[in-house]
Amino acid sequence: METNYSEISKKIQEISRKLLEEGRVDRVIGFERGEFTGEMTPVLVTDPEEAENLLFNPECEMMLAKYLLDYGGSTTGIVAKPCDTRAITVYLAEELIKRDEIVIIGINDCQGLEENEACDECGVRNPVVADEEIGQPRQEPVETDIKDDLKDMSLGERFAYFQEEFSRCIRCYACREACFVCSCEECFVDSNQPQWVGFSVGLRDNFTFHLMRAMHMAGRCINCGACELACPEAINMRALTRNLYRVAQEVYEFEPGLDPEEKTLFATYRLNDSEQGFLD
Ligand code: SF4
Ligand code: SF4
Ligand code: SF4
Repeated sequence: METNYSEISKKIQEISRKLLEEGRVDRVIGFERGEFTGEMTPVLVTDPEEAENLLFNPECEMMLAKYLLDYGGSTTGIVAKPCDTRAITVYLAEELIKRDEIVIIGINDCQGLEENEACDECGVRNPVVADEEIGQPRQEPVETDIKDDLKDMSLGERFAYFQEEFSRCIRCYACREACFVCSCEECFVDSNQPQWVGFSVGLRDNFTFHLMRAMHMAGRCINCGACELACPEAINMRALTRNLYRVAQEVYEFEPGLDPEEKTLFATYRLNDSEQGFLD
């Protein structure tokens, strides 16, 4: 059955208006069509009359969870694709947000986003946590096959591959901004004491940025693809991060963002844990 995005938008508008009218939230974060670009853009609605601007469709590619970090101490409603609910769950597990300060408007049976290859690898199509649900939950599991670009490459071939990819990086940091995991108050790339990365663009510093960023994704990246969608140079940085996702799953039986009560991968330790690295 074809997904009716007008119906979904209508429902989001109804729920948001009600939440704002009843004072259950101070604001709702969702999407509207941008006035100048015509693209789907994040919007923050505080007036119930403006809830009618909220829309949803497969162009709503940005992950909205990151905005929640700005509104602690008040209540926020958030329109959430299943991957957004996983991001929220990671934040809850890391105690970065409080459950009683958010109202999650979860969208069931996600059909994926336009032009997001990561959606083909996504097996979580219903919200993992929600206060209000839109649509019927998908019952059938989704067949997913997480790509492994590095599998058949020798170490030398991998190095050459990433040299080619990272040589195109202009270090605009759009990937970092788009990624909900990248939520540090000060990113290591902006630190000048110590200085981890040079300010000018060059292959060596580009490698440092991507490898260090990838390390910070371990056990936290949910393979949502927002980083790649944001990249103006079409760099395949998920060749690194999706590998971390797979290693967490296959070696440590851990999938981030499914259970807010579960400790994060780095906060757990078993004596028989494998010593496998993510590029092995
Ligand atoms: S990653 Fe999954 S939940 Fe997120 S938009 Fe794609 S299919 Fe939907
Ligand atoms: S978005 Fe692309 S070009 Fe910009 S820093 Fe990230 S990888 Fe480099
Ligand atoms: S795929 Fe991973 S690294 Fe990329 S934006 Fe999503 S969580 Fe961040």
